[in-house]
Amino acid sequence: MTKPIDIKVKPKYAMKLKKGYPLIEKEAIDHKKLLGDEGRLLKLVDERNTFIGIGYYGLQNKGIGWVISQKENEIINKAFFARKFQEAFEKRKALFADNDTTAFRVFNGEGDGLGGITIDYYDGFYMIQWYSKGIYCFREAIVDALCDSVDYKGIYEKKRFDQKGQYVEDDDFVTGERGTFPLIVKENGVNFAVYLNDGAMTGIFLDQREVRKAIRTRYSKGAEVLNMFSYTGAFSVNAALGGATMTTSVDVANRSRSKTLEQFAVNEVDGEKQQIVVDDVFQYFKYAARKGRVFDLVVLDPPSFAKTKKRTFSAAKDYTQLLQETIEITKNDGVIVASTNSSAFDMRRFKQFIQAACKETKTDYTILEEYRLPDDFQTTKLFPEGNYLKVVFIKIHSIVEMSVKPAFTVF
Ligand code: SAH
Repeated sequence: MTKPIDIKVKPKYAMKLKKGYPLIEKEAIDHKKLLGDEGRLLKLVDERNTFIGIGYYGLQNKGIGWVISQKENEIINKAFFARKFQEAFEKRKALFADNDTTAFRVFNGEGDGLGGITIDYYDGFYMIQWYSKGIYCFREAIVDALCDSVDYKGIYEKKRFDQKGQYVEDDDFVTGERGTFPLIVKENGVNFAVYLNDGAMTGIFLDQREVRKAIRTRYSKGAEVLNMFSYTGAFSVNAALGGATMTTSVDVANRSRSKTLEQFAVNEVDGEKQQIVVDDVFQYFKYAARKGRVFDLVVLDPPSFAKTKKRTFSAAKDYTQLLQETIEITKNDGVIVASTNSSAFDMRRFKQFIQAACKETKTDYTILEEYRLPDDFQTTKLFPEGNYLKVVFIKIHSIVEMSVKPAFTVF
């Protein structure tokens, strides 16, 4: 591999990187010199040429690369990647041994010491996700290191960086044996049908494992459940298995109906007896209000950004409004599971959205529990924004207004 080139970091950013912040921000270096040279190894130094770290140049949404070692003489090669993988897999030993869970994350980017790449395990198959052309330049050494570190049936990949709109069919297979899809994986004993070769998503978001379990085991019995932004209905399936009297899944994408029916079917739940609505959630709020429908449990798990024909949704801007509309169709003493994967705001801010929505609707509330990323989605305190998942279980009590206070008091 090529030798790293020396790059001076601006003082403000040098301080941050020295403390262990792994992301190389756009303003940190004069990266114009590097233009078009993604995958280049960088030896980052401060104004006085003191060594800071070894990084690579790779353009992502945020940042232009990652620091991957603090050792000046580190050689970035297959052995380096293999060490990172082995350390990471060791941390997931308990999950590998758990027969009830056969899909989870085995390598989580900067949380495991190598930003820009994640690897998920799906019952013998591995799925690599590349977040920049820069990290993709190390593909050969990384795939070799992975193959040497694990027993695998097959390896798949997804390129999550701009390829100028190209998506090549069957581009996802890397090596080993090809799977037959859907592949049925288990999560805490619940089945999921996944596809490793079918566009950007596999059918399940592995980071919600603990939330799904909580919903199934502690919140669903006898409940009428509404699952907003339901995708393949993973929350609905867990609610149904947990004893919900009815689940309603709402997603604007046409594919969501067949995908949700499939997830019910692989768990031997009759999906025809559940409600699956293909519509914009904001239309559904109106419909439910008109029909006087109310729910015991509402799961809200919107994307950070979404564009539909009618509107653009941004979690950072619109979550409060979304909650207000949800409160209107939640029963007294019902529960809202408010979830977001937006890294644009932190838990404190998210709770402010909750507080604002409850204030606006004159609703008293109690926070029952909170979830962040599970342990297999390793994060580092040095990069808190990497712990993007925020889930809050909110119990809704309506406020008794002053005017309905008892007219007399019994002593
Ligand atoms: N909750 C899901 C993941 C949600 S992914 C799970 O547990 O697996 C986000 C989903 O929101 C996508 O399926 C997308 O089609 C849907 N979506 C985006 N905007 C929407 C809208 N305005 N109304 C309904 N669904 C929407």
